[in-house]
Amino acid sequence: MNKRLLLTHAKPFYEKNFLLELEHAIDVAAEAHKGQKRRSGEPYIVHPLSVAKTLIDWGMDIDSVIAGVLHDTVEDTDLTLEKIESLFGEDVAFLVDGVTKVSQARAGMQDLTTYLPQTKDNLSKLLIAIGHDVRVVIIKLADRLHNLETLQHKSRPKQIKIARESLEVFAPMADRLGMGRVRVQIEELAFSYLEPQEFKRLKNLIRKRLGKSTRKLGVVRDEVEKELNAQGIKHEINGRVKSIYSLHKKLQKVDGNIDDIYDLMALRVIVDTREECYKVLGVLHALYQPMIARIKDYTSAPKPNGYQSLHTTVITRSKQIVEFQIRTHEMHEYAEQGLAASFHYNEQKSSKDYTRKKGSAVLPGHLQWITQLQEIASKLRSGEDIPTSQLSIDLFGDRIFVYSPKGDIYNLPEGAFPLDFAYLVHSDVGKHANGFKVNGKIHPFDKPLQNGDVIEVMTRKNSQPKQAWLDNISTTHARNKLRSQLRKLGLVESMTNAAAIIREKTKRKKDR
Ligand code: MN
Repeated sequence: MNKRLLLTHAKPFYEKNFLLELEHAIDVAAEAHKGQKRRSGEPYIVHPLSVAKTLIDWGMDIDSVIAGVLHDTVEDTDLTLEKIESLFGEDVAFLVDGVTKVSQARAGMQDLTTYLPQTKDNLSKLLIAIGHDVRVVIIKLADRLHNLETLQHKSRPKQIKIARESLEVFAPMADRLGMGRVRVQIEELAFSYLEPQEFKRLKNLIRKRLGKSTRKLGVVRDEVEKELNAQGIKHEINGRVKSIYSLHKKLQKVDGNIDDIYDLMALRVIVDTREECYKVLGVLHALYQPMIARIKDYTSAPKPNGYQSLHTTVITRSKQIVEFQIRTHEMHEYAEQGLAASFHYNEQKSSKDYTRKKGSAVLPGHLQWITQLQEIASKLRSGEDIPTSQLSIDLFGDRIFVYSPKGDIYNLPEGAFPLDFAYLVHSDVGKHANGFKVNGKIHPFDKPLQNGDVIEVMTRKNSQPKQAWLDNISTTHARNKLRSQLRKLGLVESMTNAAAIIREKTKRKKDR
């Protein structure tokens, strides 16, 4: 893709100065990546341009698109962050820095395949924490999507690693941001590399099934349309086919029996207002027998990521089981685009409004990130203007991320002590801890850790846990481990004492 192509994709609402700035960024990036090639043999610049184009398609703001163009320069070329800041401003530099840090953290995770579930979860959290600004994560998602789209050029082990990481980290991230369409794109691509045979098998299975049911479903659709028209409810209705990966996941739950899957193809009814959603539900339930247990009202109780819809499954007259999803246009847009939809071009002039507050917890208190996201989501849905401070979500302001000397990442509550870290690594590491080095310097037991610290636990085999450590621990996990170790030690001691006493007494008796 060349520069011109990218620009024709830019929609007319982009202002002239944006186009100039974008063109400048492309020149700078192309110059920086000059001579570099992708595995496909294409010039490297194709990749950042694709990422930028995706960001434009998602309706992201100017700064994100420019950061997309520049996203690999700091890591892979001689271009510095300072230079980027001087050319494109603080905001673009902040975003590029965020994306670079996420890549570095990922490298620090080493091979994800050998990781514990807890560590994977840490990576998701890290993506957000380091991002500090949701746009960093969104740029990262666009980056990952293009890497998946061009995965055929990588070696098989690389393919598996990237595909697995995409399923375990990036797809859930997209889901958390409510970006349903991106989540499905990532899942389908990743799954097709991870389990190519199964992917093909399920794809064929779906095709066969759909052939059978599409005609029957067409009848249902006509019936519903007729009734909705009769009632004067303006609507759109279309079929949605379950994605291959979500079919795969569901099949695992029902022991592989596709007959137990009712929503292989669902009918989606899109209306103007929330009231009409319930009217449609009424119409459907009057027409067909609802399966009561399968009615879900995500419009009054949205999913944690902000997803809204009414779901119901009915049994038609021909005994066909059909799932319906009913939603408004707004709910539909959010379900597809999620948080990305909020960075819409309209707001691009006030890109300053998106700025984060560096290094500070923007939202008060210890709110769960889901709550925050929900609040934002509901505001977005009601068309409210969102204040600056809320878009730069510091989702884990009360958590810190620390590293082992090998680069493994651990997540601890703020104020945690070195012993909390040691016990998190392994209870034996805690047990035999003899001293700590933090960022290469000796660190006392009673001094809390800071975000980003690299901690080395010095152990000694015959070193034993001490009662006094209870004062230098803040996590329940470490406390429980230490207590049980102390109890065991206590027990060992008293048994030794008891044995000694008995020996002593026996000896005395004999001596007598
Ligand atoms: Mn990249």
